[in-house]
Amino acid sequence: MDIKIGKSARGCLGCEQAFEHEQQTTSLVRVQDGVLAREDYCDACWNADRTGNAFSVWNSRFYDPQVAEQEPPESFSPLRQVFYESVESDSREETATAYLAAQLLRRQKVFRLIKQGDDPDGEVHLILYSDRLANRLIEVRDPNLSYAEMEEGRTRLLARLAEFEQPEDAEEETPDAQAQQA
Ligand SMILES: [Zn+2]
Repeated sequence: MDIKIGKSARGCLGCEQAFEHEQQTTSLVRVQDGVLAREDYCDACWNADRTGNAFSVWNSRFYDPQVAEQEPPESFSPLRQVFYESVESDSREETATAYLAAQLLRRQKVFRLIKQGDDPDGEVHLILYSDRLANRLIEVRDPNLSYAEMEEGRTRLLARLAEFEQPEDAEEETPDAQAQQA
């Protein structure tokens, strides 16, 4: 299994001007040789003729992390970190974890659902999200995960999130202090 993550271009494919923070853009993906290829355009360069045989088209705002550096660091939330760690993996267990984390991120409006459906070869259910804070298009796959695999993924997700809340150096506290907290 092969999971692709399509990051936004830094500038428009039409005029090659760099995008600015919060600039409105139009993006699309096409299936080319079985792989999703992404294109990003500024408003001036976008027109419906470009839609062609696109798999999906959506509007977004360009997010420049350097400009946004002063903004609240929600982009570094544990949930997002767990998602990006697990979505890179080929294992079904990690895929289940990524699948569930993505749904939670969507609920937090960090991820936006772009499209879902069967992928062109029809073997897996495919969900495309846009990560608002990283200009990324993310492909999450559901290779017919079973209920048991989902349950396992949920357990792993909760365990990983708990690790973020209890960093290892917390164990250096005295046993008495821990007992009082408990
Ligand atoms: Zn342009």
